[in-house]
Amino acid sequence: PFEVLVVGGGPAGAAAAIYAARKGIRTGVAAERFGGQVLDTMDIENFISVSRTEGPKLAAQLEAHVKDYDVEIMNLQKAAKLIPAKTEGGYHEVVLENGASLKGRTVILSTGARWRQMGVPGEEEYRNKGVAYCPHCDGPLFKGKRVAVIGGGNSGVEAAIDLAGIVAHVTLIEFDSQLRADAVLQRKLASLPNVRIITSALTTKVEGDGNRVTGLSYKDRNHGTEHDVELEGIFVQIGLVPNTEWLKDAIAMSPRGEIEIDARGETSQPGIFAAGDCTTVPYKQIVIAMGAGSTAALSAFDYLIRLPAS
Ligand code: FAD
Repeated sequence: PFEVLVVGGGPAGAAAAIYAARKGIRTGVAAERFGGQVLDTMDIENFISVSRTEGPKLAAQLEAHVKDYDVEIMNLQKAAKLIPAKTEGGYHEVVLENGASLKGRTVILSTGARWRQMGVPGEEEYRNKGVAYCPHCDGPLFKGKRVAVIGGGNSGVEAAIDLAGIVAHVTLIEFDSQLRADAVLQRKLASLPNVRIITSALTTKVEGDGNRVTGLSYKDRNHGTEHDVELEGIFVQIGLVPNTEWLKDAIAMSPRGEIEIDARGETSQPGIFAAGDCTTVPYKQIVIAMGAGSTAALSAFDYLIRLPAS
């Protein structure tokens, strides 16, 4: 059994493992895919103090740094169920998909999130070649270019406002007959000169030249007509889904399935902490996930030293 069992091996989990191991307590990390979303990222330009790096490189460095410590890494292990301890100070159990089970006196949940995809031809092919999901991350790469934002909820409209200040032109495409974002955001968006809003539109295809995105096609849902838009970038903003389906009923979550945490990273279950994109933390970014992972590990340590000696 572990004193700190981390579930998830992205930036949050790696930071949690390092902080826990540095306290000299038995630490393990179980991860479906060590590295997390960083593995799917190309250029990273906002990892503070590193001007520019690439996702797979950062993922390898995360793993190497964790391996500097006595941490048991269990890669390619998917957690399927969490059974909280029956008594304070008892072991929490994490049941893996393969049937095995791991125990931790504290558990840090850091299973991250995934961007909902459009599921249209070209999206996968041109991922990181014009198809992007994170305006904070990739917005500046499209300086002076034309982009589309797919999705007219709060995140889509926020992204469009953000991008309008950086890129030459933004086309916002919404499936519904109206935007769903807060009125104040919609007013702000409507005031911007370089934004075009298209509603009742279903994106049908990402167009490219083999190397980069060159446009997109959409269908006008009122008239059934097909249209093309020439552009260099597409930001898909139709939802960020936390990887928390396996935690149902075990701990408190927001209506969007994000694990509820307090300022110390503690969940509704004593001894169970959470960090990063799977939580209610505002803004999902690498540096934020790392800070949250560190917070969760320090909180787990504080919890452990307060348990009565057994
Ligand atoms: P994740 O990175 O999602 O890691 C989750 C971990 O949990 C993984 O190891 C996963 O395999 C594991 N896991 C999931 N479910 C289970 C389970 N049931 N059992 C066991 N393990 C599980 N952020 C930036 O700051 N800058 C950027 O430039 C940037 N660019 C991005 C580009 C792309 C294409 C994407 C997708 C994201 C980008 N982000 C960027 C966001 C950033 O990657 C995330 O905010 C960050 O990785 C979150 O870290 P995390 O540890 O919380 O979760």
